[in-house]
Amino acid sequence: MPELRQNMATKQWVIIAAERARRPQQFLETYRPSTEEQPEYDPSCPFCPGNEELEREITRVPPGEDWQVRVLLNKYPALQREGERIRSFDGVHRRISGVGYHEVVVESRRHNVCPALADAQHLSMILQALQSRCCELAQDPRIEHIICFQNHGERAGTSLLHPHSQIIALPVVPYEVRMRAEEARRYFDDTGTCVFCQMVDDELHAGERIIVENASFVAFILYAASSPFHTWIVPRRHAASFLRASASELSDLGDILRRVLRKLYRGLHDPDYNYIIRTAPLRDPGHEYLHWYLTVVPRVTRAAGFELGSGMFINTMLPEDAAAFLRSVSDD
Ligand SMILES: [Zn+2]
Ligand SMILES: [Zn+2]
Repeated sequence: MPELRQNMATKQWVIIAAERARRPQQFLETYRPSTEEQPEYDPSCPFCPGNEELEREITRVPPGEDWQVRVLLNKYPALQREGERIRSFDGVHRRISGVGYHEVVVESRRHNVCPALADAQHLSMILQALQSRCCELAQDPRIEHIICFQNHGERAGTSLLHPHSQIIALPVVPYEVRMRAEEARRYFDDTGTCVFCQMVDDELHAGERIIVENASFVAFILYAASSPFHTWIVPRRHAASFLRASASELSDLGDILRRVLRKLYRGLHDPDYNYIIRTAPLRDPGHEYLHWYLTVVPRVTRAAGFELGSGMFINTMLPEDAAAFLRSVSDD
């Protein structure tokens, strides 16, 4: 019989349709060539070396011709850097002027790589660049929340192959982020512990949904995963904000992120995915009850009317089977 499961941190329900369970190989991607089969250089790509648009560049690491990572202003930003944050409310319509930041991190000189193909040290360099931009943007009093994410592949929302991630700094705290913080606070009030620390303890104890772990992080498939292979990578050390992760944590995050993405790349033939860093709102950091983490969501299925109508997802793969499959795939 199918089973409904609830995520204890977000309170979201999901239908695990065990009777429709599919084998992991049925999620194999075949709709496009894998990243490494694409050309190493694309003369028409705005991120390839030689095409650098310097007027949009914020920083490059290391400085000079042989950059490995560049941070740019987005060419078509969702929000505008200049201007005042003005709120208005006429009793019906509430609005805030669209100030904020929208930056792009070009993650490599090479066109046809992705984090799964990079080494851990390179990923740590990218994570450091994301963190240092976040710390800088957090200084702006107009900014209340920052989201770092990567869209890999068309089904994840990008048509540009060249590896890149994005940072959006918002003048509001999104409703979903606020609701999650509320749930975490409620759990803390009831129990005196952080719900995310509790989840990590439970997962380590159960073991069956763990994908991989290292000194600072644990990667597991969620008990109530809303889609196949939906993964959380959670720091063992309790901390609300990604902005204050230590250098050694970023190094360990580079290691575990590479391993998780490598397993997906190898096991499912380079699936499209999003990864998102979920960190505490800047002005209400929830030190005790919030816990930052990174989530990886492979886009191997598509949400449809039921999901839009209910906010609930149907997952056709048992989380325990997804984790067992990924454990069996090499991350060398
Ligand atoms: Zn390129
Ligand atoms: Zn915690």
